[in-house]
Amino acid sequence: MPMTKPSFSDPIFVAGHRGLVGSAVVRALESAGYTNLITRRSSDLDLREQAAVRAFFASEQPRYVICAAAMVGGIAANNDFPGTFIYDNLAIQTNVIEACRQQAVKKLIYLGSTCIYPKHAPQPIQEEHLLTGPLEETNEAYAIAKIAGLKMCEAYAKQYGMSSITLMATNLYGQGDNFDLEKSHVIPALMRKAHEAKLADAKTMTVWGTGKPLREFLYVDDMAAAARYCLEHDTPYSMVNVGSGEEISIADLCRLICDVVGFRGELIFNPEKPDGTPRKLADSSRLRDLGWSPTVGLRDGLEKTYRWFSQTANARLGD
Ligand code: GDP
Repeated sequence: MPMTKPSFSDPIFVAGHRGLVGSAVVRALESAGYTNLITRRSSDLDLREQAAVRAFFASEQPRYVICAAAMVGGIAANNDFPGTFIYDNLAIQTNVIEACRQQAVKKLIYLGSTCIYPKHAPQPIQEEHLLTGPLEETNEAYAIAKIAGLKMCEAYAKQYGMSSITLMATNLYGQGDNFDLEKSHVIPALMRKAHEAKLADAKTMTVWGTGKPLREFLYVDDMAAAARYCLEHDTPYSMVNVGSGEEISIADLCRLICDVVGFRGELIFNPEKPDGTPRKLADSSRLRDLGWSPTVGLRDGLEKTYRWFSQTANARLGD
């Protein structure tokens, strides 16, 4: 059944609007002309609480939902807090997806990630590779939760006819990211390390792992554009990959970040820290064939991110 495109005044709930993806989705939808975005801070609505989520949906009656609310983090956080990652994500997504069904939401855009594919999936990874092999152990808890969310969306489509799509995002970065040195993903962590090393006039900077793993990165505004695309168009799939199609080694990424930041010291690799999955490149041809394509190259995206980081660093790092 073809969907009706949302009107600019339809109520659209963006869950997780203060996070990296959610804040970019709000920017994208507002600048496109949507005037009725519903958002809640986690202190006002704890999405892990079923009764609260149900009451919120009943009173606000969102017609479309973008679920960018999740417990996320880099390789160390995933490794150290698997219980939090599995519980928070299972609870948030179960409550949101079920509330969408109860309120007959017209379409749910659910955020997944390419780290839920098997560790040794053939590259570039296609959607069909889901559940064909063991997961990367450092993020198994997160992956199991996200796979459950995706499968719940598919089950609800089959049993109730609920319309949804899961966006399997590659490694995202950009304005609004978390720059915590221990818990963040590789780009914000290395950008902050390089920035602080530059300010301290340090001779060296430490990089986790061997530097050999390959990763694909996508600027978050391109991700938000993909979410908007899926909101506004028929999407004949339950899930689509969203990536840039370009990969880079962690060592080369680090050199690029140091260049953008202006740190000229030496890089020290620490192989005691985990490398994670060796390679993670998504095949995003499904979404590209539908009409979406990324617009921000890696260097350009890193420069934008660093400008934002430099402007807001003092305020945030003083927290
Ligand atoms: P992943 O893509 O799920 O493995 O998550 P991350 O973004 O946390 O890490 C990507 C890669 O960057 C891994 O191979 C890490 O070992 C490497 N890396 C190098 N330095 C850092 C750092 O300071 N922080 C993080 N999070 N990763 C780092």
